[in-house]
Amino acid sequence: MLSEKLLEAINQQIQKELYSAYLYLSMSAYFEAHSLPGFAKWTRMQAQEEVEHAMKFYDYVNDRGGRVVLLAIQQPQVEFNSPLEVFEAILEHEQLVTASINNLYTLALKENDYAAQVMLHWFIDEQVEEEKNAGQIVDHLRMVEDHKVSLINLDHQVGKREAEED
Ligand code: MG
Repeated sequence: MLSEKLLEAINQQIQKELYSAYLYLSMSAYFEAHSLPGFAKWTRMQAQEEVEHAMKFYDYVNDRGGRVVLLAIQQPQVEFNSPLEVFEAILEHEQLVTASINNLYTLALKENDYAAQVMLHWFIDEQVEEEKNAGQIVDHLRMVEDHKVSLINLDHQVGKREAEED
């Protein structure tokens, strides 16, 4: 059984992952509206990944005999000033998610919940990837601003993203 505290924290994490999906989908809609299909695809795929993250926690709560409680999801940001602003927001958002996952891990340590610690290892690794990917695109978009690469080329390159296993 999950402790009461850990159960509550994981239910909050499910909400955060679903909010992430909502945020990425809102960003995807922004890119669609600005005729940047590559960025639209990337953020849409990311939205899908966030739903998968939420479902990993959802399944985990059920596997451990806990009760999933879905919390309200706030409206995400609608308008952005530039692709760079979007990806800076993504990087900042993922850093917040990393902090949240780290807090869950600290709680699992305090509660001596070894199984939850093992489950969280996957998310700790995943956040390294998320921050790396977002940070790289932020760097590339800064190169666009410095006229080292064109936005259309970068959009095309980002749109080559393919679905990952697991
Ligand atoms: Mg996530």
